[in-house]
Amino acid sequence: MERLRIRRYDYLVTGGAGFIGSHLCEELLRRGSSVLVLDDLSTGNLANLEGCVDSSEFSYVVGSVLDESLVSEAVDLCGRVIHLAAAVGVRNIIDRPVETIEANVTGTENVLKAAGKKDKTTFVASTSEVYGKSEAVPFKEDGDIVLGATSRSRWSYACSKAVDEFLAQAYWKDKGLPVVVGRLFNTVGPRQSGRYGMVLPRFVSQALDSQPITVYGDGLQTRCFSLVEEVVDCILELLHCPNAVGRVVNIGSVQEVTIMELARTVKERSGSSSKISLVPYEEAYPTDFEDMRRRMPDVSLLLKLVGRAPQAGLEEIVDAVIGWARQTRE
Ligand code: NAD
Repeated sequence: MERLRIRRYDYLVTGGAGFIGSHLCEELLRRGSSVLVLDDLSTGNLANLEGCVDSSEFSYVVGSVLDESLVSEAVDLCGRVIHLAAAVGVRNIIDRPVETIEANVTGTENVLKAAGKKDKTTFVASTSEVYGKSEAVPFKEDGDIVLGATSRSRWSYACSKAVDEFLAQAYWKDKGLPVVVGRLFNTVGPRQSGRYGMVLPRFVSQALDSQPITVYGDGLQTRCFSLVEEVVDCILELLHCPNAVGRVVNIGSVQEVTIMELARTVKERSGSSSKISLVPYEEAYPTDFEDMRRRMPDVSLLLKLVGRAPQAGLEEIVDAVIGWARQTRE
C-alpha cells in the first residue's frame, strides 16, 4: 500500500478512481480545490485519473474503505468527504455478494465514523436501486421502498445502500454530523466501464464492434440517464447546501427512455450496422435476477435545494459516450 502524503486537502474522494469519482476529482481541481483519493482499484482504474495526477493539488492512495485506520487517517487530512467507494454493477453484485455487503456497509460505517469524530461535512452516494420494485413512479425520497427476497442476492446492493442511508441519517440525528445522501439514478458518460453490466457502454461497444446490440427482456423497461458532469455539479452543490444536511436527495434526469429506444439511438448515432436482438433475462443472468420496469426520479427536492437537475438529452449523452469510446480505441 502506498503511503499517504501528509498535507491538508480540501476533499477526500473515496472511490475517486472510478467513473463518477474521476470526473468529480477533475471538477474539484478545476475549481481550485485540493483532492485526496482513496480507492482499492477493484472496479476503478488509475488511467481514469490521468487528468488529475500531474496536479500538485492531487494525491491518491490505493487502499480500501474497509481499512478503518487508513480511512481515519485520510479523513483527518481532508476538509470534506465525498464517499463514492462501493461495490457496483449488477454482475459484480450477483457474482460477489459478500464483498458487496462488506464494502457497502462496513466501508460506509468506517467513513461515517471517521467523519463523525472530526465533524467533517460528508456526501454519501446511494442509488435509485433502493426504490426496488416500487411502482410509485416518479420516485419520491420519502416513498416506500419495495425490495425482493433476501435469497436473491441482487437485492443486497439496494439493501446495503439503504443501510448506508439509515447510518448517514443516524449520524446526523445522533451525532450532528453534517451529511447528505444523494440517490443517484443511471449516470453515464465517458470512462464508464461496460464490464460490470452497465447498459450504455455495453451497447456502444457492441455497436462499434458491429456485434448485435443485446437488449435484455422485451426492451420496454425504462430508465432515466444523466450525464456525469451534471451529476457531479449536483453532488458538489448539495455538499455546500446547508438545507440539504441530514436529507436524502434524488439526483437524476426525468427523461424516461426505453432500453429499446436507447439501443436504437446508439445504433443510429454510431452509424453501426449492428442488429438489435432481444435476449431473455434467464439467458443474460442465469440465476437470481429481477428487473424493474420503470425507474424515474421526482427531482422537486433537488430543484428546491440547488435549483438544478441533470437535463442533457439522450442524443447528447449517447454522442458523448460514442465519442469517448472511439477516441479510446484509437
Ligand atoms: P465505479 O465502479 O466506477 O466506482 C466505484 C469506485 O469505488 C471504484 O473506483 C472502485 O475501485 C472503488 N471501490 C470499490 N470498493 C472499494 C473499497 N472497498 N475501498 C476503496 N475503494 C473501493 O462506479 P461509479 O458508477 O463511479 O459509482 C460511484 C458511486 O455512485 C457508487 O457508490 C455507486 O453505488 C453510486 N451510483 C452510481 C450510479 C451510476 O449509474 N453510475 C448509479 C447509482 C449510484
